[in-house]
Amino acid sequence: MTTGIRENLEAVRERIGNACALSGRSPGEVGVMAVTKTHPVETVRAAVAAGVTVIGENRVTEGGRKTRELGAGFAEFHLIGPLHVREVRQALRDFRWIDSVDRVEVAGEMIRRKASNPLLVEVNTSGEPGKKGFPPDPDVLVEVVGMMVGEGLRVEGLMTVGPLTLVESDSRRAFSLLRELRDRLRGSLGTPLENLSMGMSDDFVHAVREGSTMVRLGRVLLGERR
Ligand SMILES: *Cc1c(COP(=O)(O)O)cnc(C)c1O
Repeated sequence: MTTGIRENLEAVRERIGNACALSGRSPGEVGVMAVTKTHPVETVRAAVAAGVTVIGENRVTEGGRKTRELGAGFAEFHLIGPLHVREVRQALRDFRWIDSVDRVEVAGEMIRRKASNPLLVEVNTSGEPGKKGFPPDPDVLVEVVGMMVGEGLRVEGLMTVGPLTLVESDSRRAFSLLRELRDRLRGSLGTPLENLSMGMSDDFVHAVREGSTMVRLGRVLLGERR
C-alpha cells in the first residue's frame, strides 16, 4: 500500500508542478495534506512513510483517537471538519492546527481557552447552502479575523471547500475569491495570513492555479474511502 501512495504522491506532485508552471508559481509553495478520514491508523503510517508530513482528519473524535495513538510528533495533524463548541478543548489538545474555524462561537471558545494552535478561518466561497464557513464578505471577515487576532489567537490563513460543480470556471472563481479576501484582510489588518488551504482530489489543480498553499487530498492519494 505504501508503494501505491508513493506513486500517487508522485503523480500529484507532477500535476501541482504543471499547474504552478502555468501560473508562475514555485511548486515548493504548495504543501500536500493527506486526508485520512475513515482510514485506519495504518494508512496514516503508510502516508507518512510515503513522504507526506501533514495529515488531515475531519472529525474530532475519530481523528483525535488516531493522533493520540500516533503521538503529536508523528506528523503535523490538522482538523479540517466540523467543530462544536463543546469539542474545542479536545480539538486543541489532539490537533496541532485547526483549519475549520467557521463560527464566532467557536472562535470565542478558543479565546476563552487562550488557544495557541495555528488556526485557519473557513469561508463559504461558493455560497452553496449547507456549506460551512463565514460568508465571503470582506467586512464580516475583517471584523471576525480582526477580533480573533486582537484577542491573541494565531490566525494563519483561510480555508475553503470548492463548489460541487467541478466546472473549472466555477472552481477557479471560488478559489480566486478566497485569495482576494485574504489580500483584503492582509491589507486591512496587517496580518500576513500566508496559508490558503484549498483544493481536494477533484479540483486541486484549479486551486493551485489560484494560489493554494495546501491541497487536502484523500481519494487521489489513498484510494476510495471505505
Ligand atoms: C474529505 C475531505 C477532503 C478530501 O477529499 P477528497 O475528495 O477525497 O480529496 C478535503 N477537505 C475536506 C474538508 C474533507 O472533508
